[in-house]
Amino acid sequence: AHQLQRKPDWLRVKLPVGKEYRHVRGLVDEHKLHTICESGNCPNMGECWGAGTATFMILGNICTRSCSFCAVATGRPLAVDWDEPNRVAQSVKLMEVKHCVITSVDRDDLKDGGSIIWAETVNAIRRESPGTTLETLIPDFKGNWENLERVLAVRPEVVSHNLETVRRLTREVRIQAKYDRSLECLRRISAAGLRTKSGIMLGFGETEADVIEAMTDLYEAGVHILTLGQYLQPTKAHHPVVEWITPDQFKYYQEIGLRMGFKYVESGPLVRSSYHAEKHLFDMQ
Ligand code: SF4
Ligand code: SF4
Repeated sequence: AHQLQRKPDWLRVKLPVGKEYRHVRGLVDEHKLHTICESGNCPNMGECWGAGTATFMILGNICTRSCSFCAVATGRPLAVDWDEPNRVAQSVKLMEVKHCVITSVDRDDLKDGGSIIWAETVNAIRRESPGTTLETLIPDFKGNWENLERVLAVRPEVVSHNLETVRRLTREVRIQAKYDRSLECLRRISAAGLRTKSGIMLGFGETEADVIEAMTDLYEAGVHILTLGQYLQPTKAHHPVVEWITPDQFKYYQEIGLRMGFKYVESGPLVRSSYHAEKHLFDMQ
């Protein structure tokens, strides 16, 4: 596929404004805190921080996988840092985060897949900030479901696992992952009675039929909350953007998703996995 050069106007970054945002900004600068919102240069910081939502990454910053869309470095990760859960919990407290999203690199090198640090991080944040709700954006644990269970056992308020792309493009977009294994992971999250969320990025070259198939598969796996956003290429070495999906097309997918029965569908060019995350805490009854 050829490289698309210019970004369309609708992808222009929103200016971070607002009193709440400036308050959080001040805390982050003062304490030199580290968030994915900032290191990933996310266009939604004004909205998310203003609403009390922020995303943190755990288990280091070197990943054992090499997804073709992802800016995280691939390689052999450093040793597990057992103090990390406490450090993240301190940051969450200092930033006064109301809804905390945690994500991680994939640690296929570890026997527990990082699940112990995952559970400890949730526990540490609960201890330090009892009023904060938690959303864990977890890996597939290579299909080691015992490790998945360790995270589900601490009952995060929302558990996400991203499908990232449609079935047909999975190999080219996330080489070490498997479409059906991700669906199985989501099925298990949902079966545990937890709010279950997943996301797909668009613009890799998928067709409308591919997207609707993936949405159907996610719905049937028990997913409640779906996010659809435009893929942006982090560097020239990454998967090219094959298509800019129009805002109208995103709206169309949202309507289809809601009709299918998803409780929430966030669909738009700048939507990220954790966008509007604080709004997705529906009643499970
Ligand atoms: Fe942070 Fe996610 Fe919001 Fe972006 S969408 S600002 S990464 S919480
Ligand atoms: Fe990036 Fe996650 Fe893929 Fe690792 S597993 S390369 S962090 S998307």
